[in-house]
Amino acid sequence: MTTIIDGKALGLKIRGKIAEEVAEVSRKVGRKPGLAVVLVGEDPASQVYVNMKEKACLEAGFNSSVYRLSQSTTTDELLNLIDELNKNDGIDGILVQLPLPEQIDEKEVLYSIDPKKDVDGFHPFNVGLLNIGEDTLFPCTPYGVMKIFEEYGIELSGKNAVVIGRSNIVGKPMASLLLRGNATVTICHSRTKDIASICKNADIIVAAVGIPQFVTADFVKDGAVVIDVGINRVDGKLVGDVNYSDVFDKCSYITPVPGGVGPMTIAMLMFNTLKSFKTRTHQY
Ligand code: NAD
Repeated sequence: MTTIIDGKALGLKIRGKIAEEVAEVSRKVGRKPGLAVVLVGEDPASQVYVNMKEKACLEAGFNSSVYRLSQSTTTDELLNLIDELNKNDGIDGILVQLPLPEQIDEKEVLYSIDPKKDVDGFHPFNVGLLNIGEDTLFPCTPYGVMKIFEEYGIELSGKNAVVIGRSNIVGKPMASLLLRGNATVTICHSRTKDIASICKNADIIVAAVGIPQFVTADFVKDGAVVIDVGINRVDGKLVGDVNYSDVFDKCSYITPVPGGVGPMTIAMLMFNTLKSFKTRTHQY
């Protein structure tokens, strides 16, 4: 029997709990948590994501400010805005929507965000804390996958987990979080040979490759948990990195696309913003 993981329902449940806590803590502190989202340019997918984040913020009772900057924005202009947001006491979280236009130095921008307001968890300071096992702001997508494991009672300790993809946004932090959960972790990437046979030993597969339907039935051992992080547009439809119908019968748990990991990413952004708010206002 295969359980389909309902990320949409779980994401909404988490967001509902966050909204309750926001109301309570805001009353004590005398202000709402503030999230600043910075969008540079007109990338259509980024605009959709930013609109979704803004809506989620308002529903959770946050103050949301979206800064929409032109495609021709320079690195210095963006750094000046981040500097203002870093200094603004009413802003608890700063998120710069990626990708940025080519002329902008992405690293310099991300590294300029105050680590305490780094709700995406991409600043090297937070990456370091994640890797040495400290509590900090964790990247939203892999953190959302960890919440799925927790909520569905999927045990990680002693399990073989394979992460396909080694990006700083998903693959690497995912591997780090799985390791913290005491899984034995293998990372596969574009240079890895025979990924199918490596995955065949996995109790848990997390696919974050960006190639539609990359993971097929020959990757999956009977009873494996398959988490599909991929979001690819094929003929106007959203498709994951897993060939869902091919692997379905072999899995104990599987995430659909859409409705699996995607909604968890937004929920964890709200979670991180509330966490940052509570830390900054000494409510822990
Ligand atoms: P990325 O392009 O930065 O990284 C892809 C990784 O896949 C790389 O590390 C690369 O080594 C590996 N890879 C590429 N080709 C490969 C191959 N042939 N075999 C094995 N590995 C290969 O992408 P990303 O930002 O990590 O995103 C991965 C996917 O997840 C994308 O589809 C993206 O849209 C999606 N994504 C979803 C969410 C969400 O909220 N669900 C968030 C972020 C990214």
